[in-house]
Amino acid sequence: MMIGTEVYKSHRKAFFGKEISARYNNTFGVSERYKPTSNFLEWVEGSNIILDGNHFTFHHHEYLREPYNDPHPRQVEIKATQLGLTTKAGLRSIHGAITGRYPRGILYLFPSKTDVTEFSKGRINLLIGENPDSIGKWIKDTDTSNLKQIGSSILYFRGMKSRVGLKSVPVDFIVFDELDEAPQKAVDMALQRMAHSEIKEWLKLSNPTLPDYGIDKAFQETDQQYWLLQCPACGHYTCLEDTFPACLVELSDGRVIRGCEKCKAELNPSIGKWAAKRSQIEEIRGRHYSQLMSHFVDMKELLHDFRTTQNLTDFYNLRIGMAWVEATHRISLEAVYALCDLFGMAEKDGGPSSMGVDQGKDLHVVIGKAQPGRAGKIVHLGVYKDWEKLESLMKDFNVYRCVIDGMPEIEKARSFAKKFPGKVYLNFYNEHQKGTYKWNDGDLTVSCNRTESLDASHAQILGAAGDLTGSSKVVLPRKSDMIEEFAVHLHNVAKRLEEDEETGSKRYVYVKLGPDHFRHAFNYECMARGTFANTLFPEFLT
Ligand SMILES: [Zn+2]
Repeated sequence: MMIGTEVYKSHRKAFFGKEISARYNNTFGVSERYKPTSNFLEWVEGSNIILDGNHFTFHHHEYLREPYNDPHPRQVEIKATQLGLTTKAGLRSIHGAITGRYPRGILYLFPSKTDVTEFSKGRINLLIGENPDSIGKWIKDTDTSNLKQIGSSILYFRGMKSRVGLKSVPVDFIVFDELDEAPQKAVDMALQRMAHSEIKEWLKLSNPTLPDYGIDKAFQETDQQYWLLQCPACGHYTCLEDTFPACLVELSDGRVIRGCEKCKAELNPSIGKWAAKRSQIEEIRGRHYSQLMSHFVDMKELLHDFRTTQNLTDFYNLRIGMAWVEATHRISLEAVYALCDLFGMAEKDGGPSSMGVDQGKDLHVVIGKAQPGRAGKIVHLGVYKDWEKLESLMKDFNVYRCVIDGMPEIEKARSFAKKFPGKVYLNFYNEHQKGTYKWNDGDLTVSCNRTESLDASHAQILGAAGDLTGSSKVVLPRKSDMIEEFAVHLHNVAKRLEEDEETGSKRYVYVKLGPDHFRHAFNYECMARGTFANTLFPEFLT
């Protein structure tokens, strides 16, 4: 767990330079470029909006005032739970429809149809019912759960898992709610709905999951605003999220308070200001919301949860609003470099060797062999354009078995395989397969369960559970540019728990966070090596 903390923090530190910290306390301010042009804030304050039986107020929600007054057309909200942001998104949509700000319509997206229906029938209908004068009178059709006509505008509710739902409507404003649970490829498709709009506004909001994924990835491209609390004693501004858990101070009377970074005086979450870490970025606004800024969360309980939880991932994702991955679920660059030995990359080897090839724009190749006392030895890494090169590598390294990605060039892969009968197999991942890989000599294919096979090669970098000597790991050539690229590709895949919407069952899935060609080439090489690495006399293989 601690390694996970280190990995995550070092990843974030890139944005937290000394110059930036100094600016927290001096020049942070609201960007001047996007002056409020709508009166959303005035409307909310002036309409006596009722929320769950109570009058809408910024009292004890002071951090929401500026966001309610921010008409920036592109906004990202990375958030913990229970901070009022889905309500804000719903109210902004309704207000935009009533005032005609979005004449073509508004698209409110959730990951699935079920989420949409719950939101529309629950939250939105409650808002309409509780506010007959300010909202209800504008609603022309309240009967359908996936569409509401408000004033002269239409508010569409759709699930992002449905391609059909995304194709049908042109709009001016899109809300992506719970972005991390939605298929990420659908984001661009949804944005196409605004191709003909002159307004083109969007709002992305979500609890984060993995670093560099979904809302965290989107937030990295923004000005990255945090709610800083001002110290009543010394005037210093503290960013609670940056200084957690040190920002929580345990008093002798048992209370736990938010403490000033400098003098430890108690901070009041109502007294603060939004400040950007990257104020030079004006194109996209980003805000981070954590439960540390909430009057309704007991800091003693939060700290206790942090110290005792068995699930730090949920703690960081849902309470601090931070992306998080356990160290065992993502390979770090350091873990890869730690496997490097002193030998250089080989251009030839007597073998017998195992080869893995990932095909995409280029051919990424990993070649290895058996190694006494270790899972194996990687002798060659390469990126090639020509399929003929694969044939010469087969000979130069005396490759006993090669596994190549079956897609996208299936015919080229097949004709390559036919030239080396019994040695080259096309891989196809199959989510439903369990257990050992299925080698099929008839059609020159091998099929495997994607998660299980990636687990197996993952363990050859990080080590299998209980392995104290490192015998379950591979050994790599000495560090080079190629090894660095290999390490980055291995780092660009992380494991996360996903829930099947229909069955509710959960399973681990490896998610792509960036270019990952070498990750799959290495996986294929491991599959190939697994067929002979434990052979007693590999030199007799032909
Ligand atoms: Zn202070």
